[in-house]
Amino acid sequence: MANENKFIYSMFTLVMFFVSLYMGINYIISGKNINVTNFFVIFFNVIFLLIIIVILLAIIVSYLVLKGKKINKTIIKLNLKIVNILYPFIIVISKLLKIPKNDIRKVYVNLNNKYIYASDYNLKAEDIMLLTPHCIQKSFCKYKVTNDIKNCRQCGKCNVGDLVKLKQKYKVKVFVATGGTLARRIIMENKPKVVIAIACERDLTSGIQDVSKLPVLGIFNKRPNGPCFDTEIDILEVEKAINFFLGGDYNVL
Ligand code: SF4
Repeated sequence: MANENKFIYSMFTLVMFFVSLYMGINYIISGKNINVTNFFVIFFNVIFLLIIIVILLAIIVSYLVLKGKKINKTIIKLNLKIVNILYPFIIVISKLLKIPKNDIRKVYVNLNNKYIYASDYNLKAEDIMLLTPHCIQKSFCKYKVTNDIKNCRQCGKCNVGDLVKLKQKYKVKVFVATGGTLARRIIMENKPKVVIAIACERDLTSGIQDVSKLPVLGIFNKRPNGPCFDTEIDILEVEKAINFFLGGDYNVL
């Protein structure tokens, strides 16, 4: 099953859970001969129905966004906020359905990126920050690029050298972070207007949620040698993202 379908399936199961809960509680209420005009009964019914309607709408919008349909930017943003609230529940449901967390995270980052790409940007290069994990540097390399990426000698053995080239070409800020805490500190100190974050599914999801006030475009790293070890980047994807934030067309370089 495609990841998008797994995500929608988890959301649908979540809504079915709320529907069952709603029906079950109403069944108990009717059995106890409680007056249905009781304030609490009405309040309970309204709240539950609202939750069910909101999740159903989020399912529909998420499905359309993921299928690449043209949707109003405000609706995509609102949907992302709802998905953010539902996210912990979706993760619990997906675990029960034995859907790998990373499959759900991928779709979450995808929904986030769709919202960013639905917006218009025309930023200066210095307002764009590229943040990448330390594991893209080859494990045998002795140069300390976490202090300053310019320490890289551009030997061509890993993508750090490619990022240095992008930094020189576009003048964007590029940082290599050793972990989430340092990444957050770098963002706070440099105050970019947008971040292009390169990481695994888990780190991207938590990073996007942590700095929810800042647009964070997520790009997944490739892990041919397993997690957190000699990882790789699709440099073209990164360059397209820089170009997009500078006001260019995502697909044209
Ligand atoms: S490209 Fe830079 S960081 Fe990567 S191995 Fe070569 S010198 Fe080290």
